[in-house]
Amino acid sequence: MPELPDVEVLRSYLDKKGLHQPVHQVEVFAEEVLEGISAREVHSQVTGRSFSSTARHGKYLFAELNGNGWVVFHFGMTGQLHWLQPGTRTPDHTRVLFIFSNRQSLAFVLRRKLGRFGIIPDITGFVATKGLGPDALSKELDLHTLQQRLKKTSGTIKGALTNQGLIAGIGNIYSDEILFQARIHPKNRANKLDREAMRLIFRKIGEVLQTAIEREADPAHMPATYLLPHRQKGGVCPVCGTKLKQLRISGRATFYCSNCQQ
Ligand SMILES: [Zn+2]
Repeated sequence: MPELPDVEVLRSYLDKKGLHQPVHQVEVFAEEVLEGISAREVHSQVTGRSFSSTARHGKYLFAELNGNGWVVFHFGMTGQLHWLQPGTRTPDHTRVLFIFSNRQSLAFVLRRKLGRFGIIPDITGFVATKGLGPDALSKELDLHTLQQRLKKTSGTIKGALTNQGLIAGIGNIYSDEILFQARIHPKNRANKLDREAMRLIFRKIGEVLQTAIEREADPAHMPATYLLPHRQKGGVCPVCGTKLKQLRISGRATFYCSNCQQ
């Protein structure tokens, strides 16, 4: 599932390729992915406008419609954006297609229809309506805020890190990586962690997410000491060679090293 680093890579991709080009036509192929808007409204609000800037909060990507609100993408389990040159075949599972006046196009592709597309007046209101916590890489998530939020959480640290209402952007894969890098067992109670552990988690949130963005969220390009490429059945710890353990926490498959993580 696309998490903060994946969505940030898509944001910078859209920022580099998709700005300031009028939308000639927008096609909605699956109305069920639209949230709070009809296909007709999408046509009338997007056609003729161009994207003037991009933003991200947690796992949501926003593109501004020249000061007339924002389109919002949520990528669900499998979502992608594909930039297409004129004459290129539209990819399978394209749910929304923007055709620009230069004949290039942008495809919002969802293999499963779990992602969402909408148009919103402003990001702050949207974040509040969705009940999202501060973005994991924003200034709003400082050490003090993180400590306050974890202290109020009686569940596991794994559950807390992936709870979008507490912190927005971290999902199953990067929560495992953050806890692996902090050498903290995923089943520890969030509110029982000491100050040192919370400080370490805070540092690793920034470090892991930033490293993943720099490496385009590609598991093949992660540092040698990262769990991510080994995070599968039969995988071994890249630090000590112990076979990784697998647990289900809050319904999510969680990988950890029983030797390195206490
Ligand atoms: Zn280990």
